[in-house]
Amino acid sequence: MTGIFMPLPLHILKTVFGFPAFRGQQEEVIRHVVEGGDALVLMPTGAGKSLCYQVPALCRDGVAIVVSPLIALMQNQVEALTQLGVRAAALNSARSPDEARVIERRMQAGELDLVYVAPERLVLPGFLSLLEDCRIALFAIDEAHCVSQWGHDFRPEYLQLALLHERFPAVPRIALTATADGPTRRDIAERLNLQDGRQFVAGFDRPNIRYRIAAKNNAREQLARFIEAEHGGPGADSGIVYCLSRAKVEETAAWLAGKGYTALAYHAGLDQSVRAGNQERFLREDGIVMVATIAFGMGIDKPDVRFVAHLDLPKSLEAYYQETGRAGRDGQPADAWMAYGLEDVAKLGQFIASSQASDAQKRIEWQKLNALLGLCETTRCRRQVLLEYFGETDHPPCGNCDTCLEPIASFDGTELARKALSCVYRTGESFGAGHVIDVLLGKDNDKVRRFGHERLSTFGIGTELPAEQWRSVLRQLVAAGLLSIDTEGHGAFKLTEACRPVLRSEVRVDLRRDPLPARGKSKSSGG
Ligand code: ADP
Ligand code: ZN
Repeated sequence: MTGIFMPLPLHILKTVFGFPAFRGQQEEVIRHVVEGGDALVLMPTGAGKSLCYQVPALCRDGVAIVVSPLIALMQNQVEALTQLGVRAAALNSARSPDEARVIERRMQAGELDLVYVAPERLVLPGFLSLLEDCRIALFAIDEAHCVSQWGHDFRPEYLQLALLHERFPAVPRIALTATADGPTRRDIAERLNLQDGRQFVAGFDRPNIRYRIAAKNNAREQLARFIEAEHGGPGADSGIVYCLSRAKVEETAAWLAGKGYTALAYHAGLDQSVRAGNQERFLREDGIVMVATIAFGMGIDKPDVRFVAHLDLPKSLEAYYQETGRAGRDGQPADAWMAYGLEDVAKLGQFIASSQASDAQKRIEWQKLNALLGLCETTRCRRQVLLEYFGETDHPPCGNCDTCLEPIASFDGTELARKALSCVYRTGESFGAGHVIDVLLGKDNDKVRRFGHERLSTFGIGTELPAEQWRSVLRQLVAAGLLSIDTEGHGAFKLTEACRPVLRSEVRVDLRRDPLPARGKSKSSGG
């Protein structure tokens, strides 16, 4: 791009990238860089960092040099840009010397808009002097946390990137990362000599989203009550309902349709044309409830989704954040609502246990599931727990989640925990919640008699709590790691090592007092 007229960023966004508007702080960042300023950009993954340097690259004269540590990512970006008609290339170890020479010659001739370079190549004396012969639009340093030893991806070559500022003081630099904790941020600014640049920090917080997680107790009915009470019932607000399986997606969509909702289904088993049609309608029309598996959502940018509901647990906190993040993009109040129960934990556990992944990978998956349970069972502000997971530890309680709005009382549940754990032990660690609770409550039924459990010392020792609350206790014991769910068999509870001190009364167990599930609004409905 040459001449005295600089193309406007918005024009580039529309004509080259085909997007109607900037997101979040993109426009501000881009304007700053186009005008020649240095910038440090911290935004969560998926926020759209690439455009922050790609658009200025096309607005400013000369070639933009993008430092990136990952060859695969470079290739992807170059392919995507080439498809859009942008003149882009990558210089890395995957190139032969001949190929590299061609690219370098095109750079010098001003025939390229963006060149992706591996850091170790960029700092070669030969390459730096080649750059002196080129007109350079900007330097972009992607994955900038690689310069910091605080991070987990430290790359020594990144340290040398500070010299760009000395060699090319007039060329703006933009460093980008999704790692946003304080020490790393300061480290990046210092080591890249960016202290005088502007910092753009987009935190992970989505303050307009209200987080709520309820104990599952006929989730479909709970969902219908939620939409009716807070989103005007059929035909009012747009929302997404996530389910784990294709079958449940279809059942739920049909059930909602029976209640008068315009509910569409979306999952990978549907015909491509059906999927595309449903997605199109959801984007275009108001008041549609999209019932979907996680196949739905990538690249969906509907600003006025007023609620995202989960009828099953997502896979991890990252997934929960991403899926709920599709609500309220317009900044107006929106809901993230979820119903979860122990059967979800068992199901996800089974997926993990039966997957082909390595043991190390499975351990990571378990940790992720546990972090999610931690969010579900917390007595603290949900937003705090969620954001802490992403490294943001300095948020006060938000006042816009269920635990903030209706504080959860916690109480000394040591005795209850011991009763539940003993009962799991006495019944041979072979049963799930239903049977264990029957024994605790002293229910004299067929299954209890068949196993002779009416003769156990734990039979009937838990009559002080209703079944519903025992479920809550058991869930919390799982979330606390005192019980595990056997995923090889049929979801039986197992005691863990961690429960020994509890059984010996050496530690105290605090439990949350779950609000009883709402039973509908009218007084006559009882319950
Ligand atoms: P990051 O690098 O921050 O993880 P990306 O740059 O890969 O994020 O962008 C994530 C997705 O968002 C991409 O699919 C991108 O095309 C899309 N995107 C980014 N900015 C916009 C925008 N202004 N309008 C629409 N889509 C956008
Ligand atoms: Zn809160």
